[in-house]
Amino acid sequence: MKAAVLFEPNGKLSIENVDLESPKKDEVLVKIHSSGLCHTDWETMNGYQPINLPAIIGHEGAGTVVETGEGVENLQIGDHVVCSWNPNCGTCFYCDLGQPILCEVQKKYNSQGVLFDGTTRSSINGKKIHYYSLVSSHAEYTVIPKQSAVKVRKDFPLDRAALLGCAVMTGYGGAVYAGQIKPESSVVVIGCGAVGLSAIQGARIAGASKIIAVDINDDKLKFAEKVGATHSINSAQVDPKEYCISLTDGRGVDCAIEAAGHNETIQQTLESSRPGARIVILGKTPYGVEINLPFYTLMGEREIIRTSYGKSRPRIDFPKLANLYMSGHLLLDEMITKKYKIEDINKGFDALEKGQLARGLIKFE
Ligand SMILES: [Zn+2]
Ligand SMILES: [Zn+2]
Repeated sequence: MKAAVLFEPNGKLSIENVDLESPKKDEVLVKIHSSGLCHTDWETMNGYQPINLPAIIGHEGAGTVVETGEGVENLQIGDHVVCSWNPNCGTCFYCDLGQPILCEVQKKYNSQGVLFDGTTRSSINGKKIHYYSLVSSHAEYTVIPKQSAVKVRKDFPLDRAALLGCAVMTGYGGAVYAGQIKPESSVVVIGCGAVGLSAIQGARIAGASKIIAVDINDDKLKFAEKVGATHSINSAQVDPKEYCISLTDGRGVDCAIEAAGHNETIQQTLESSRPGARIVILGKTPYGVEINLPFYTLMGEREIIRTSYGKSRPRIDFPKLANLYMSGHLLLDEMITKKYKIEDINKGFDALEKGQLARGLIKFE
């Protein structure tokens, strides 16, 4: 099968013919239909987050189950699935605590780039290729744990479905679950990539009346207006703090969401929010980078929440998000800017780096 392999953290992927084994116990083989180009992939390609190499990256995929391993009872051949990068074990400390995103088993094997039995399923000339996020969706096929394959309704188009696997779940959950946005809330979202756009949609669906989109790229602000921002500002020209305060009777917003991953934007979320607000940090800086905050931004009580997957429970949330799309509430067509063949994946990541995409997708034949 064809797959995009990262050999060195030099910003480029190589299209290779890769051998793939059949699924083993509690695993499924998925034929990938579409795979989203996520900023986290780009960060990994450029060495921001070290992983075991070589690896097939991609962690935002959707496709069809074509083979099931022994012990797989929850999935059938032909099922449509969205890949979750949080295949939780169900029995560890964090799973029992109700925080499956922190599953210790998932964390251990994910960091090693292997499946739950400590091995991989793909190789080139006998040399093993690691997993990425237990998904590895920039490939025609992938073998993943049964917990990673989340069944969704078959009338939900698989290219839109792919987006649920990372950006949409993270942004929507960041707004609705972490941000606890209520009807008539005021919200600022700083950073309007795919995660920020999904947070804007979560805020809209939760009933926020003021949704202020902030970015330094006017194209991204246009995407934000399409999916529900009521106000948008370019922070290279307008100070987000002053703007948010002027729109909220001098108080600041009820909920501030950061989806850019910079010290400055994290500061802006705090400065733009009112005392008592919830601050949700979804972006991430490169490993090793420290952030610093003026202490006054913490005064008067604020809740700061950092979450990686929007406090999601994928098996419950992916089918819900599919319903929200099918009922017209969640806008996914508007999020897909361009589709690429796997051979053109590096062009897609170049466009992502230039800020030209709300979301780019690899679409397999
Ligand atoms: Zn667990
Ligand atoms: Zn992602």
